[in-house]
Amino acid sequence: MSNTLDHKKLDRLAEVAVRTGVNLAKGQELVITAPIEALPLVRLIAEHAYKAGAALVTPIFSDGQITKARYEHGDEESFDVAAAWLFKAMGEAFSNGAARMAISGEDPMLLSEQDPAKVARVSKATSIAGKPAMKPIVGFEVNWNIVAYPTTGWAAKVFPDLPIDEAQAKLLDAIYAASRIDGDDPVANWAHHTNELKKRVTWLNGQKFDALQYTGPGTDLRLGLAEGHIWKGGASPALNGIICQPNIPTEEVFTCPHAYKVDGWVSATKPLAHQGTVIENIAVRFQAGKIVEATATKGQDVLRALLNTDEGASRIGEVALVPHSSPISQSGVLFYNTLFDENASCHIALGQSYADTVEGGAVFLPEELQQKGANQSLIHVDWMIGSQSMNIDGITLQGTVVPVMRAGEWAF
Ligand code: ZN
Ligand code: ZN
Repeated sequence: MSNTLDHKKLDRLAEVAVRTGVNLAKGQELVITAPIEALPLVRLIAEHAYKAGAALVTPIFSDGQITKARYEHGDEESFDVAAAWLFKAMGEAFSNGAARMAISGEDPMLLSEQDPAKVARVSKATSIAGKPAMKPIVGFEVNWNIVAYPTTGWAAKVFPDLPIDEAQAKLLDAIYAASRIDGDDPVANWAHHTNELKKRVTWLNGQKFDALQYTGPGTDLRLGLAEGHIWKGGASPALNGIICQPNIPTEEVFTCPHAYKVDGWVSATKPLAHQGTVIENIAVRFQAGKIVEATATKGQDVLRALLNTDEGASRIGEVALVPHSSPISQSGVLFYNTLFDENASCHIALGQSYADTVEGGAVFLPEELQQKGANQSLIHVDWMIGSQSMNIDGITLQGTVVPVMRAGEWAF
């Protein structure tokens, strides 16, 4: 287990997650979901949360072995069942003002040997049942944060040649560096980093691009942007007024694409770890915003099932820019975890868009959002398309072409 992990490092990670990440307010409840292996980190988070004045910390744990037991011994008819009651309760907690924290770090290979059809059924059932818990998050109604814990299964996948204790310690160091807390003053580092992201955001918002043109190996994509789209990045206020940092780490600036104006080919540049399986070498063709062809050299069944979740699952809801020189990318570590891999690369996300990436979107009805080009779906799955060979141009409404990225780096 994790008794070899450096307690001080975990403690600092917990403190940054509570203070900079979720920025828990005095008197606020905190709901944490985590793999049971992350218990040492969750206990430290709870300590810091209570020091910050938490009204109540409620942890909800999952366990990989129990999940696996379901696939191995569960009744054939049972794979469309999800704990709807639990998601409803979580949704109720958020409506009543609770903040949300998620600990990432599950074994990316947990379900790789299981029947893809069952994995897809569980994934769909969970997405549908999970809506009440997901809605306040995608609508940014409450402050929330995701951080990671180096579980044994995850560490074994990232550093397969090391003994497990060393692999876990090395993964914790990688998480630590990527999360920008290895310096003397992590809080000041984060303030500086957020400021740098805000400069990119300000420039991009000033351009009011109509579309982005991506060119690279296996990629020739014209990606329309939603009407009134807003670029965002770094810390920002949730609708409850609390400024939080949803992802730790975060290197992206992102906005809302137009769900009906994306055309051309795009190829993934990293494997996508999705719900216990790894999908490799994704290549898709978009036509009028919809994916009409999709291939993968591994996990193609899972990919196709994912795209068929609902109408919006084969369209995109987020476009994000990350320079190739980001520290996570430079670490050279392939994490097989979206929280890290998406912050090492330009990416797009299948499915649900974030309402606050459209001007006024937070108070729009779903139909109004759709009219602007914002996508709706039960899923939101980021996948990586950036590399040091990617060029991106912004195209204005008048057709002017402005370089945004050259060879994977900012061009402005
Ligand atoms: Zn993103
Ligand atoms: Zn995303």
